[in-house]
Parts: sequence; C-alpha cells; structure tokens
Amino acid sequence: MAKHLIPILPGAYLGMLGGGQLGRMFTQAAQAMGYKVCILDPDPLSPAGAIAEKHLLADFSDAAALQEMATLCQAVSTEFENVPAQTLDQLEALGVYVAPRSNGVSIAQNRIAEKAFLTAWRHELNLGPVPYCIIENQAAIDGFDDALLPGILKIARLGYDGKGQATVHSLVELKRAWDDFGRVPCVLEKRMDLAFEVSALVVRGHDDAVVVYPIAQNIHRNGILHTSTVPAPSLNTDQEKRVLQAAKVLIRRLDYVGILCIEFFVVKSGEIFANEIAPRPHNSGHYTMDASVTSQFQQQVRAMARLPLGDTRLLTPVSMLNVLGDLWFTGNNLEDAPKEPAWAKALSHDSAKLHLYGKSVPLAGRKMGHINCLGTSLAEARQIAALVASDLGIEP
Ligand code: ADP
Ligand code: MG
Repeated sequence: MAKHLIPILPGAYLGMLGGGQLGRMFTQAAQAMGYKVCILDPDPLSPAGAIAEKHLLADFSDAAALQEMATLCQAVSTEFENVPAQTLDQLEALGVYVAPRSNGVSIAQNRIAEKAFLTAWRHELNLGPVPYCIIENQAAIDGFDDALLPGILKIARLGYDGKGQATVHSLVELKRAWDDFGRVPCVLEKRMDLAFEVSALVVRGHDDAVVVYPIAQNIHRNGILHTSTVPAPSLNTDQEKRVLQAAKVLIRRLDYVGILCIEFFVVKSGEIFANEIAPRPHNSGHYTMDASVTSQFQQQVRAMARLPLGDTRLLTPVSMLNVLGDLWFTGNNLEDAPKEPAWAKALSHDSAKLHLYGKSVPLAGRKMGHINCLGTSLAEARQIAALVASDLGIEP
C-alpha cells in the first residue's frame, strides 16, 4: 500500500498549527485516542501548548521549528484559520502528511477567493454567496452598485468574530470605512434581512469519504457566536437537505481532507446563502463534544490520521452556550479584579456540561469556554440553556 494510504496509528505524534482552544480540544481528543501532540504556537501561555507533549514556541514561518515538527510528526493539521499557506506547503515539502492542504485553506482564508469559489460552484451547490462586490481600489468605490446598500464592508483577510467589519449606508460611509481599514482589499456585501443562521460541519477523509453533522442553528451577538442549537429549530426538511447537499459538494470541490464548517444565512423569503467557510473545527460544532457519537475533534484526529471517519449521529438534543470573558466582570466595578462566574449555580442543572479553555486571563469578548446543555427534547435543551445563562448573568 502506498505510504499516503496507510493509517497513522496511536503512539505517533500529530502536529497542530495553532495552540488556541481549538488546538487544546484537539489535543485532548488525540491524547484520549493514544496519540502524542506537538503544538506550534508563539504564545508561551497557549491553551493547547500547556497540555501537549511538545510545544514548539515559534512563529509559523520559523524554518527550524517547521523542520522539527516535520521530523517529529506523522501528520500536521491546522486550528488557526490564518496560518500562512506557505507554512503548509513547506511542511509538505519536508515530507510530512498535511491535511487540509494549502489550496483549500487559502480559499477559506480570503473572502475574495471564497466568494469567487462559491460563485463558480453556485449551480452545483444549489446556492451561492450574498450579493457582493470587491473593493480593492478607488475605481471599485467609484463604480460600486448602490443596490448593495445598506451593506457590510469586510476586510478580505484576518477578520473574525465580527472584527474587520463595518456597516455602511452611503457612499460617504463606504469611503470612510475603507479608509479606516487602511484601504486593504475588502468585500462589500449587501446586508441581508436574516430569518436565522445555520452552519454545517463536514468532514472528508483521504479516501474521499464524506460525512456531515446535523445542522446547527446559531445566534450571534455583536458578531460573536452566542448559542448553537441542534436539531436546528427553524430549518425545514427541504432547507436541511439543501444545506447538507451543499456541504458535501463544497468539501469535494475544495479537494479538502479534514474538517471544515460552512456558515449559511437563511433570509425571510426562505432563500439560503453561503456566508463563510472555516477550514478547521468550529465554535458552532462544540455541541458534538457531548451530544454526538464522534466529536468534531475526534473527527479531526481520524481525518488527519487517515482512519475511517466516525459516526456523526446526534445522541441528544443540545443547546450550546458560549462563555465569554465579559462574564468575569459582570456586576463588577470596572476597576475591580475579575471574579469567577457562578459555576456551581450553573451546574445545578445536571445536564449542563462545562468546558473551559485554560486561557491566561479573561478579557471582554474573549472566548473562555462553553456549556453544552443537553435535553430529552429540543424544548428542554433550550430551556436549560436559558436557565444556565440566567444563573450566570448572561443576557437572554
Ligand atoms: P466572522 O468572520 O466575524 O464570523 P461573518 O461574515 O460570519 O464574520 O459575520 C459575523 C456575523 O455578522 C454573521 O454571523 C451575521 O450574524 C452577521 N452578518 C455578516 N454578514 C452579513 C450580511 N451580509 N447580512 C446580514 N448579516 C450579516
Ligand atoms: Mg462567521
């Protein structure tokens, strides 16, 4: 059997680019399955670096660190959306199995490439991106179509959690927002009247096997994910079929091995648009850790180790509540030290499962953890999530 088809077995080192919470939960899953983990992250306090067997404290472009990673690891994957494509290519050139490869990752990293990809495949996907135009020079501003107003200007690269975005209502505001972003390449999207938002977590093995998780319905606050609920309460059967099908087509057309997440908008007319693609496990997939046969992180291990993919079946209705750093300051005077949230009260709900990421300090808007609230019914899962939120002082 060719080397690239042989599974990588427990005992081997798996490498992860990025040491944030996604890398930490990957590490926990990999270690539970008997693998060792090597994290590359320049932050000495990185949540994943703290628990991995090996933490390479270096930049993603550090040649010596990449060499060390390639020598130690049998496979490398990424948890950091903005890992340079060059890093992935260099690792591959050093002979280590890299999944996903740079081609798919670099499309998902850049909103301009992502929109072009979604547009190119829109007939096969049976849905496309929201109406948009590219803003990368003065001519684009001068010629822009004001049917896109009110719109959202988004920087093409490095935006996350609603950062690098501005709502604009006029040409004047558009010009000002583009100036504020330093005139970097952007997309201007029409601001859609959303009925609700959903996401699809999809995984592809090296052998082209594809599995999709049950669709999550997501509520965002200030551009940051607030809750994910599964099964998606508002999605009808036809819409669900379309989203699942689009996810399977998309991962194959990206020629992507590993796990990715696609965010979708469902607008008031019922029409569905693809919003963005994250080339990694996703916050809206954290529910799988307690509610699914195979968690998204176990699935990431399986895909990169060239093992058969796991069952994506939902075992119980679930509502995931994100825990942001703001919670450590609720009811505090601003100059007070952060105080620990009321965990005991929240956990008095006996099907609430707390996950904290071991971040060094709580900061407003920083993702500190999440709580999966399991219910015997969808209504019960949502009710428990609402009670837990209220116990912690998270606004409903
Ligand atoms: P991020 O990379 O920060 O997640 P997104 O493009 O997903 O950026 O935007 C974050 C959130 O902002 C979305 O989940 C949605 O709630 C809202 N949003 C973004 N773009 C649009 C749009 N074109 N129309 C309406 N709402 C939008
Ligand atoms: Mg998003």
